[in-house]
Amino acid sequence: MRLSQYFLPLLRENPAEAQIVSHRLMLRAGMIRQSSAGIYSWLPLGLRVLAKVEQIVREEQDRSGAQEILMPTIQPADLWRESGRYDDYGAEMLRIRDRHERDMLYGPTNEEVVTAIVRDAVRSYRDLPKNLYHIQWKFRDEVRPRFGVMRGREFLMKDAYSFDIDQAGAKHSYNKMMVAYLRTFARMGLKAIPMRADTGPIGGDLSHEFQILADTGESEVYCDKAWLDADVLAADVDYDSDLEPFYREWTSRYAATDEMHDAATCPVPATELVTARGIEVGHIFYFGAKYSKPMGALASLADGSTVPLEMGSYGIGVSRLVGALIEANHDDSGIIWPEAVAPFRVGLVNLRAGDAKCVAAADDAYSKLRAAGAEVLYEDRDDSPGAKFATMDLLGLPWQLIVGPRGVAAGTLEVKNRRSGERQNLPAEAALNRLIA
Ligand code: ATP
Ligand code: MG
Repeated sequence: MRLSQYFLPLLRENPAEAQIVSHRLMLRAGMIRQSSAGIYSWLPLGLRVLAKVEQIVREEQDRSGAQEILMPTIQPADLWRESGRYDDYGAEMLRIRDRHERDMLYGPTNEEVVTAIVRDAVRSYRDLPKNLYHIQWKFRDEVRPRFGVMRGREFLMKDAYSFDIDQAGAKHSYNKMMVAYLRTFARMGLKAIPMRADTGPIGGDLSHEFQILADTGESEVYCDKAWLDADVLAADVDYDSDLEPFYREWTSRYAATDEMHDAATCPVPATELVTARGIEVGHIFYFGAKYSKPMGALASLADGSTVPLEMGSYGIGVSRLVGALIEANHDDSGIIWPEAVAPFRVGLVNLRAGDAKCVAAADDAYSKLRAAGAEVLYEDRDDSPGAKFATMDLLGLPWQLIVGPRGVAAGTLEVKNRRSGERQNLPAEAALNRLIA
């Protein structure tokens, strides 16, 4: 993509309304614009990152055996009356009435809708287990939308729902999601720590929040110091094997959110305990028959008896992750994207837009990189070198390829790594090969 053609409305100044670094940088880098409080449009650069995050989430859900569906954003209130949550949910739910005076709502979560689908389609233990997920916009009328996409009112979530015939099956489904979540966040270069959590309005027996440690996190969290050095799993795991040993390993080290932590009973001595702020990027729940029972989602067993389905639900804040990734990866000059989620891999900078030789060399690099499948953002505009470097550092693409008159005369290009800051002059061909993944 040529910057001269790209829709990238950059801001030179820090926007006054943004209190935290990820919000500031997302606005300055032209990734998002606010439409109303807690509701954002995603501009081309931001949408590319959102799509990459979404794709990693999707791949790991699929790998675990979950199946993608797409449920609506607008739901009928009657389903929520069946589960008993319509009145309980409170002011966070956006309630809507259609032209026929029917009560509808903009879904804050989808337990009811998915339970109704499975109730109508599944009769027997032979049809189970199943895990269905979707990646869909949610609306929650948060009291205090803030921090940009981190606590929005409209936000993108991956939510999965598992259905089993018994508790052992449901725990296996829970464990699978535990593995999938560890893998998902590790692939994005994030250390997300599973912490015992309160189950809140979703209800249930067992729950873990996945928290990234960052100063701007909204909740206080506590964990064993050993977590700081733990290499959060990225290895492949056989999802059909017994995952209990794995579950025990990854939940044995102490980690708890504020609501669950009690200094009096905490097994970790104060000297070994880290108290930090956390950003919740995922939350998994096991809640048994909380929805299936009132809604009549049943399966018949081999002996002819009938049981309510054992369920769990599993959320990832896809749009929140974009902010969280920036909170975890930035410096004073701007964003530093991990490769896996970078909007483009390479920022190609032509330092002299008016110099025919530089233009020819940069155009040539651009077409070669693109032919090799690299995603390139090409700074081809007429601007000062200083401004171009500042823009590239702000955007935070993992690699910069710099074309200048001196290098062109010598047949070299400069490769800069955004994270390490390391710069290297290489013969043109070697420079290109370096950037072709
Ligand atoms: P929180 O405690 O942050 O309000 P929650 O417990 O209400 O989160 P869940 O219902 O478990 O959240 O939703 C699953 C995931 O969706 C959360 O882990 C979080 O990453 C994301 N999420 C929840 N609320 C918001 C929001 N208002 N804006 C952006 N992402 C959100
Ligand atoms: Mg909430």
